[in-house]
Amino acid sequence: MYRVCKVCGAEFDSKKNGMKYCSPACKSVALHQRNGTAATHESRVCPVCGSVFVTSRRDQTFCSVNCRVKNHRSKKHERTRLSQAEAGDKAGPG
Ligand SMILES: [Zn+2]
Ligand SMILES: [Zn+2]
Repeated sequence: MYRVCKVCGAEFDSKKNGMKYCSPACKSVALHQRNGTAATHESRVCPVCGSVFVTSRRDQTFCSVNCRVKNHRSKKHERTRLSQAEAGDKAGPG
């Protein structure tokens, strides 16, 4: 059964996660709203995976730690490829 997330308005399968909200991020936003602790909660698009998420902190740029790490790695991807080529040169009688 599909429900509409009260925080960001996204449709999600409530059977899948058994929650009122589409993601843990939205759940925490709802909690903050209820407690009156105003956090920055605006919808943003993750630059790595392209999914829409709600920020829980003002400086949040990525939807998850995974995406943050991916973005970090992709920046030095070129260098990584070079060192891998060198590592493959170790063949020989041991
Ligand atoms: Zn949501
Ligand atoms: Zn992402």
